[in-house]
Amino acid sequence: MPTSPFGAHAAPLEASGAAPVAGYGAEVVVDLAAIVANYRTLKAVARSALGAVVKADGYGLGAVEIARALQAGGCRDMFVAHPFEATVLRPHLAPATRLYVLHGLWPGLEAEAAEAGVIPVLNSLEQVRAWSGLAHRLGRRLPAVLQADTGMSRLGLTAEEIAHLEREPAPLASLDLRYLMTHMACAETPEAPSNRSQLACFEAVRRRLPPMRTSIANSAVTVSDGAPRSDLARVGIGLFGVDPIPGRAQGLPTEGLRPAVAIRARVIQLRRVEAGAGVGYGHRYVARAPRMLATLAIGYADGWPRGLDDRGAAYLGDQRLPVVGRVSMDSCVIDATDVAPGRLKPGDWVDLVGPHQTLQQVADAAGTIPYDILVSLGRRVARCYVSRRHVADHYVISSEAVAPAG
Ligand SMILES: *Cc1c(COP(=O)(O)O)cnc(C)c1O
Repeated sequence: MPTSPFGAHAAPLEASGAAPVAGYGAEVVVDLAAIVANYRTLKAVARSALGAVVKADGYGLGAVEIARALQAGGCRDMFVAHPFEATVLRPHLAPATRLYVLHGLWPGLEAEAAEAGVIPVLNSLEQVRAWSGLAHRLGRRLPAVLQADTGMSRLGLTAEEIAHLEREPAPLASLDLRYLMTHMACAETPEAPSNRSQLACFEAVRRRLPPMRTSIANSAVTVSDGAPRSDLARVGIGLFGVDPIPGRAQGLPTEGLRPAVAIRARVIQLRRVEAGAGVGYGHRYVARAPRMLATLAIGYADGWPRGLDDRGAAYLGDQRLPVVGRVSMDSCVIDATDVAPGRLKPGDWVDLVGPHQTLQQVADAAGTIPYDILVSLGRRVARCYVSRRHVADHYVISSEAVAPAG
């Protein structure tokens, strides 16, 4: 069985909910039960089959663990982006679970993909011909998704290529066409005019090709009002409890989306500095009065972004401890002056994403998006998988918006 190329962190820290691994300075706590609950909420909203997008090692959190939890929760369609991600994940999934590769296939990789039993999303006439050619040689129809570029100009068959397939549909005959798919450029802004024009284009494409089921929605489309219905939605970010259209998910049926991710770091040491002390690289921060500082074992190499220089914060309980100065590669410094004496010691944990600070807030402060924070989490950040009960007991990542554990 291939091992994950994403490194040692992919070794599961097991769902014991137990104490974090000794020696790690930072950890991300992944609540698999919340992910499955979010899957069910989104599925109810989508009113269609729902595929889980677990590309980029499951948004940085561990594709194998997340895909297996979702599979146990009833998900039968999984998406990755790079072909090798599929090769790694495929052996961990049940044979009946379908695994799609959004990039399609590199030239020459077709036989390996057919052997592995993955389903490519074909993005060009060249990919259609190569996959169809292999099907012909093997004497069996190979499964595929066709992606149409309806106006994002990123991936998918162009209008010209669609017209070509309409005139000469022969290559399609040897394929088992599962879905006609497209991706929306402005899903986070449901009122953007391009949404309508992309859907109109998609409808026109659909009429030119053999009848097929459709796949349109990502997380944002899924939670939009009056979202287009298709046969298979593809959600990623919403599974982790991030509201794909900030403010929107609260209105969802059941109890909305549950936070499924917490990030914490350890205090390495505490120090008292006098007025005038410079802190960190470039002395970007200079203490104006005596301060108590705490140095945390997380830096930009771990994915704690440099955009948080002098802007971010950690929390000790509900107490906000601001980042002072620049974030270094391995550490950052917070101001702990207001913490009661003796409450914080070396080795203690502070929350970076948790009940008092969401992924969205961290991303906003850093000038980026929650996706980027998650996928940037480095290999030194321990991945810890827990059930919701464990999270409630040990990590308290649930907030008021979260239903009580049941
Ligand atoms: C990443 C991706 C998705 C999932 O998007 P989310 O916003 O995370 O739900 C769906 N479809 C395609 C084609 C993607 O690349």
